[in-house]
Amino acid sequence: LVSRKKKPDDTIVTVHGENIGDGQAHFIMGPCAVESYDQVKEVAQAIKKQGLKLLRGGAFKPRTSPYDFQGLGLDGLKILRQVADEEDLAVVSEILNPVDMEAALDYVDVIQIGARNMQNFELLKVAGSVKKPVLLKRGLSATIEEFMYAAEYIHAQGNNQIILCERGIRTYEKATRNTLDISAVPILKKETHLPVVVDVTHSTGRKDLLLPATKAAIAIGADAVMAEVHPDPAVALSDSAQQMDIEQFNEYMAAAKAFAEKV
Ligand code: PEP
Ligand code: MN
Repeated sequence: LVSRKKKPDDTIVTVHGENIGDGQAHFIMGPCAVESYDQVKEVAQAIKKQGLKLLRGGAFKPRTSPYDFQGLGLDGLKILRQVADEEDLAVVSEILNPVDMEAALDYVDVIQIGARNMQNFELLKVAGSVKKPVLLKRGLSATIEEFMYAAEYIHAQGNNQIILCERGIRTYEKATRNTLDISAVPILKKETHLPVVVDVTHSTGRKDLLLPATKAAIAIGADAVMAEVHPDPAVALSDSAQQMDIEQFNEYMAAAKAFAEKV
C-alpha cells in the first residue's frame, strides 16, 4: 500500500495548512521534551515568528535509563495544545503506549511513533486506526525495507496519512550520535509515495552539524526537517547537548530558508 508502484503520485499530508510532500521544505521544530508551559511558550513564539506551523515536543519520553526524566505525560500534551492554540501552531508529539492513544487525540495533531517503537506492531495498528497523520521514525537498527513494512502496518489499518522520518541509524561511527543515512531519503521517495522528513537533531546529535545536515536533507529531496529547540539547553531535562537555543534557532532558520529557496 505504501509502494509507489501502487500509487505513482506523491501523497501530501496536510497539517494545519502545511502541505508536507508538496515539493517545498517544511520545518518541524520544538523542544525535545515538554518541561513547562513557559518553556514551550518561549519556543512556540520563536517558531511562530519564523512563520512556521509545526511544533514538536515529547510528553511521553522513551528514555534509555528508567531513572531519567520520563516526560509529563498527558499534562505535557495539554501544555502543547494550549500553547499551540495560542500561537496558531499544530502539535507533533510521540505516543508510546496504545492505551494513551485515544486520550492523546484530543491534544495532538500528528501522532509520532518513535524509533524505539518502529516495530511495536500493536502500537502501529492502533496508529493506523486513528484519523490523524502519523509521523513514523525509522528504528535505530532498521533496514529501509523493515521501515517500509512498519509504515505498511499503519496503512493496512486504513490510515494513509503517514510521514516517514529518517533519524539516523546505529553504526560503528562515534563522531555523531547516530549515522544519518541520507541516501534513505531518495530511496524512500522512490520506493514509496509518502513524504519523508529528516531529523537532524537525533541523527547527528551535534549542534554544529544541524545546518549542514539540513542542507543535505533539502538538497537530496526531503519534504521536511525536524530539529530540537530549547530556551536554555544547558538545563534541559533531556538531550541538553544537542538542542539549539532561540538565538541559534533564528540563525539556523535564516540559513536553512535561504538554502531552501535556492534548491
Ligand atoms: C524524539 O523525536 O523525541 C525522539 C525520541 O526521537 P527518536 O525516536 O528518533 O529517538
Ligand atoms: Mn530529543
